[in-house]
Amino acid sequence: MRKQILIVGAGFAGMWAALSAARLADKNQKQPVDITVIAPQPELRVRPRFYESAVPTLVAPLQPLFDATGIRFLRGTVTQILPGSKNVDWTDTSGENHTFSYDRLVLASGSHVNRSLVAGAETHAFDLDQLESATVLENHLHSLATREESEQRNTVVVCGGGFTGIEMALELPMKLREILGENAKTRVVVVERGPQPGSRFSEALSEVIVQASEALGVEWLVNAEVESVEANGVTLKDGRQIASHTVIWTVGVQANALAAQIDAPRDRQGRLHVNSELQVVGHEDIYATGDVAYAATDDKGNHALMTCQHAILLGKFAGNNAAASLLDVAPLPYRQETYVTCLDLGAWGAVYTEGWDQQVKLTRAEAKKLKMSIVSELIYPPKADKAVAFEIADPLAPFV
Ligand SMILES: Cc1cc2nc3c(=O)[nH]c(=O)nc-3n(C[C@H](O)[C@H](O)[C@H](O)COP(=O)(O)OP(=O)(O)OC[C@H]3O[C@@H](n4cnc5c(N)ncnc54)[C@H](O)[C@@H]3O)c2cc1C
Repeated sequence: MRKQILIVGAGFAGMWAALSAARLADKNQKQPVDITVIAPQPELRVRPRFYESAVPTLVAPLQPLFDATGIRFLRGTVTQILPGSKNVDWTDTSGENHTFSYDRLVLASGSHVNRSLVAGAETHAFDLDQLESATVLENHLHSLATREESEQRNTVVVCGGGFTGIEMALELPMKLREILGENAKTRVVVVERGPQPGSRFSEALSEVIVQASEALGVEWLVNAEVESVEANGVTLKDGRQIASHTVIWTVGVQANALAAQIDAPRDRQGRLHVNSELQVVGHEDIYATGDVAYAATDDKGNHALMTCQHAILLGKFAGNNAAASLLDVAPLPYRQETYVTCLDLGAWGAVYTEGWDQQVKLTRAEAKKLKMSIVSELIYPPKADKAVAFEIADPLAPFV
């Protein structure tokens, strides 16, 4: 009987899980194993670039790569995971329902920003979390040029000063000038709960963020929390109001809802606790990877973050280990000791740090060059060539 590995999701983790499983199955052909991916589109959506321009183009096709590596792709959405019977229910693009029986399941369904945290955000705020919502935001920014000049039109409020909020906010002065004209009096405000810009990062990184924000004229309202979002701006918890036609929400990223269908411990973001083989605790047939996995990266207490950097390697280990468990091959414990950060700081440049203590190694143009090579090359899918793809899909192949 052919064994079935089902991978849910074709993002960074799902794509690499599929390739890594296919690689191991190709090397060990004593037991036939089929690898299937179910996702809404056979494309990698490059979420880290969604603060840039031309959002709909920030995707990479996956069907040629899957064809070259013998991976079956089913276009659809998983609606239900049934661990007891080892089935998942899914719906195809014509709305027809199906059931898929798996021997091993790899959950790689990603994450989403939660806009329901404050009143009015779902209706009035924008986000750059998914291709569709980031496209709506981009179209809205362009439409500002057709509106009458006003303070609201020229002000953008970014709620949350984490990595996504910072990259978006520091890109905006340049973007707004392109849209509204060089002489428009624009204002970009970041609303941040912490006591200073970037205070959740290392002091050195925070200093660079302050320097870049000042140079670009991006304002930070610190020790500030959003109470509600309205059609014409935001109200803060202390009663202050900022008039704006563009409020961008970046706070509260949550694991995809499928994770909650598995009866297992989860962290505050809804990520499933996994062991070193990336099996979900209490479910040895189910692996969680990427943004749905709460995984230790080392023995020092560090855990994977919801980043591509972690999703790519988590994907490779999860796919490899799911296949290893069917092929009588020893699994590889997930390890990712190296952690780097490369943050785009708009027209000022970028900043690159190394280590969990975020030591600043590069800034400005040098860091920007590195950032561009990461987001436009390193994180893209490999060429649709079996030998090339399998070489990189090895979990032990060099990575950052
Ligand atoms: C604006 C922004 C900027 C970012 N910047 C950075 C950065 O600079 N550096 C960095 O490392 N990371 C960054 N990230 C984070 C990074 O994009 C994520 O950590 C990464 O995408 C996670 O990969 P993943 O494969 O787990 O999930 P995703 O890439 O989200 O992929 C999830 C996949 O699951 C599919 N899926 C979802 N639900 C279902 C379902 N029910 N059935 C079937 N398929 C389903 C989706 O369609 C998709 O194919 C950023 C994210 C955003 C939004």
